Amino acid sequence: MPETRCVSACLLGRACRYDGASKQHSDVQARVEAWRAEGHRVVAVCPEELGGLGTPRPAAELRGGDGAAVWRGEARVERLHDSADVTEAFRSGAIEAGRLAEGATMALLKARSPSCGVGEAHRDGGPKPGDGVFASLLRERGVTLRTEETLSAAKR
Ligand code: SF4
Repeated sequence: MPETRCVSACLLGRACRYDGASKQHSDVQARVEAWRAEGHRVVAVCPEELGGLGTPRPAAELRGGDGAAVWRGEARVERLHDSADVTEAFRSGAIEAGRLAEGATMALLKARSPSCGVGEAHRDGGPKPGDGVFASLLRERGVTLRTEETLSAAKR
């Protein structure tokens, strides 16, 4: 039965990271090709670009809580160099990415990103337990979440 699956665009070679680089990952690429060959719809998204932050962009991280706390209004996202609050851009980008990936049953996301991190994300000075903002939105929907580091657990 064809399904929709979502992937962090940087893992598929799009140069959309904050530093203008990609995080192309050959195992992710191979898995996505296999999914497509099986008829699944694969949606590649970059929630930070979709939030209008542009590439390259200043690095940012979670402050005061994880992505779930951001959605509850209890934490925010800050740029590192000037502490500017970019929470709204992260939230709106995650919502738009979630709209594009509507119906997804599985997502393969970039580990530790403040948007895409699954179970661990950059917060308050380094990687901490908790999802990024986009991953948290997908988790709320019941989407199965994996990263390039837990790829072997992603079903075929
Ligand atoms: Fe990759 Fe996600 Fe960061 Fe975009 S927001 S560069 S898709 S980790």
